Parts: sequence; structure tokens; C-alpha cells
Amino acid sequence: MQDHGQQGWGRRTRMVHHGARRSQYGEVAEALYLTQGFVYPDAASAEARFLETGPDEFIYARYGNPTVAVFEDRIAALEGTEDAFATASGMAAVSGALMSMLRAGDRVVAARALFGSCHYVLDQVLRRYGVEVVFVDGTDLAQWEAALQGGAQAVFLETVSNPTLEVIDLDAVGRLAHAAGALVVVDNVFATPVFSRAVALGADVVIYSATKHIDGQGRCLGGVICGTRDFIRNTVEPYMKHTGGAISPFNAWVMANGLQTLDLRVRAQTASAQRIAEVLEGHPALSRVIYPGLPGHPQHAIAGAQMDGYGTMLALEVRGGKAAAFRVLDALRIAVISNNLGDARSIATHPATTTHQRLSDADKAALGITPGLIRFSVGLEDAADLIDDLQAALAMI
Ligand SMILES: *Cc1c(COP(=O)(O)O)cnc(C)c1O
Repeated sequence: MQDHGQQGWGRRTRMVHHGARRSQYGEVAEALYLTQGFVYPDAASAEARFLETGPDEFIYARYGNPTVAVFEDRIAALEGTEDAFATASGMAAVSGALMSMLRAGDRVVAARALFGSCHYVLDQVLRRYGVEVVFVDGTDLAQWEAALQGGAQAVFLETVSNPTLEVIDLDAVGRLAHAAGALVVVDNVFATPVFSRAVALGADVVIYSATKHIDGQGRCLGGVICGTRDFIRNTVEPYMKHTGGAISPFNAWVMANGLQTLDLRVRAQTASAQRIAEVLEGHPALSRVIYPGLPGHPQHAIAGAQMDGYGTMLALEVRGGKAAAFRVLDALRIAVISNNLGDARSIATHPATTTHQRLSDADKAALGITPGLIRFSVGLEDAADLIDDLQAALAMI
């Protein structure tokens, strides 16, 4: 098999070529090794394989698979980490990274503004196993500093939060975390691998739900944990391979191919997001347009310094609460009502009643998840059509 990868290549070249493993047939596209296991030429080879597993020595698809390895090598090359481990979903990546590194008595400091399932893992699962979890307002450095005074093994945050698009100063939080002896674990879905500078800014572990922009067409679930070779192979892999959160080779094949077009898609979607935000800002039916690329966004400067683009996600707060928000959603003709994001199709979501329904009213209020809030994932359609669609829907109220 040919290992196709080169140091020094630019990001777009790495996205297209890195990690390709051609078989003896010399296929152009990535081969799909849809197999759970591997045969050995003789019993002694089987014994040897189990004793020593090198990078290309596959045993069982729960441990690793050649198609999965292509996706892992490609995303690691893109993110700038030594290694990566692909998982069944984004949540398998979040829970796997945290559960594999933490033990009873450890302490985690986390930003409060989190995806609902991430909040569940920290608030319910980790605490049940005796891990102390402290939540802070992620945009308030004084709170991080105070919480990290007690030391910590890990810091967990979404670099750009879901759904209210708060941007956390990764460089500053990273310095505080490292001084306290903590690993910095970031859920980087909203920043995307295209705009991420997470490793340069101090992240030790970078997690993606590949379900979002990496697939980009709403087909497959997947996730990935990026980190040092030591962390991935000695902490994450033993936990993941024995607890069973492996990605399907088919899904990994979709994700590896998704990476080839990721840069173009994310940049096009981001350009449309910026236009939509600028056009809708100040619309009389909206009390807020939240987009990190607007100069009025509270962390506009931080977002510009730590990401190479402002992202594909917007949040719109409709005047008139839930009823008005529902009327707008129901009037959209192009954007679909769903809860995925990063898709080629624009997707509108009402977080308060769907993705974040589980939170108490007080928690929703604290996170800015108001009844009028609509999360909007900007797709690949013509920006002008999306603007017309949103303006026509907003005219209903
Ligand atoms: C979607 C999402 C996840 C979970 O990913 P799945 O692939 O759905 O398991 C985690 N974090 C963030 C920020 C997300 O948007």
C-alpha cells in the first residue's frame, strides 16, 4: 500500500491527498474496507499480530480499520496534531476523551455554554463517577482563574458555543489551564477544521462531531479526537477499543471524502453567513442578530484573532417569543426545520424546544436561549435566495 502524505503541504492539498492508502490495484478513490476483521496467513502470524500492533496491523474493526485510518490520518494532518482516533459520533468522541483521561477524585473546569449532550456527560456522567465538575461563564476570564485556583486535570469548552455563538479566548484560558496543570480539551465543531487554530492557541485535545461540516451532507454520524500520539494511543485508544465506540468504516469513508471538499464548502457557507448577518442586522422583527463576524459581536476581536473565518452559524432572536419564532420557522421555504448543522442545506432550529429543551428555564435564560431564538446553519444555496427566504418569513410577524 502506498502512504500518500507529505510534510509541508498546504491545508487544501492535505485535505485532498493526505493519508490515502492505495492497495495493489492502484484505485484512484479511497478504498472502502467494509470488513470487521482480518485474516492471518497462519496461526503464528495471528499470535504475532496480537502481541505487537504496528500502525498498519489491523486486527478487528473495533480497534482500527484501513478506511478509518485514512480519515484519522487526514484529519490529524489538517488539525496539526500527531494523531487522531475516529469514533461512532461526536458524543462518543467527547465522552471517550473525557472518560479515558479522568478518574474519581479528578477535577474538571468547564464552560457553562455547552451542547446539551456535552452538558449531560459533564454534569451527570462524570459526577456519578466521582469527578468534580465546576462550570464557569466561559467568556469571563476571572471565573476561569478563580475556578482553576483549586487545580484541575482537564478544562473543557466549546470554542464557539452552541447555540448562542459565544467565543472563548482559547489562548488566555489555555494559559490559565496549563498553569493549573490541566489538559485543554476543546469541542471545536462551530470553528470547523478549516478555521481552527486551536492547537497553536494551546488546545491539547481537539474534538469534532464529523456529523456536521465534515460530512456536510447530513448522511452519517461520526466523531474524532485529535491529540498527541501518546494521548491518542495510550489513553484514548485502549478505552475506545474496549468500550466499543468505533466508527463504521463506511461512515469513515464518507468523512474522509467529505474532508476533500470541506474547505470550499465552509468558506462558501461562511461568506453567505456574513452577508445574511449584515443584511438582517437591525431588522425590525429581530431583537438580536448574533454572528461573530459582525463588529458588534461581544467577542468579534477574539474570534478574528483565533479563527481564520467567522463560521457558518448564525443565531437570530425574533421579537414576540416562541409563537413568533415558530411562525418564522414555518414560513421558511428553502431552509429546513431540523437540528443538524454544517449541512449543504440551510437548517433552522428552535433550540429552546428541541436541542436545549432538557435545560431548566433558569439555565436557558442564563445561556441566552430565549423563546425567540432561532439557530440558523447557513448552507450552500445562493445567499440571495436565503436572504429572500428569511426576509419573507420575518415579514409574517
Ligand atoms: C452535534 C454536536 C455534538 C455531538 O455530535 P454527534 O455527532 O451528534 O454525536 C457535540 N458538540 C457540538 C458542539 C455539536 O454541535
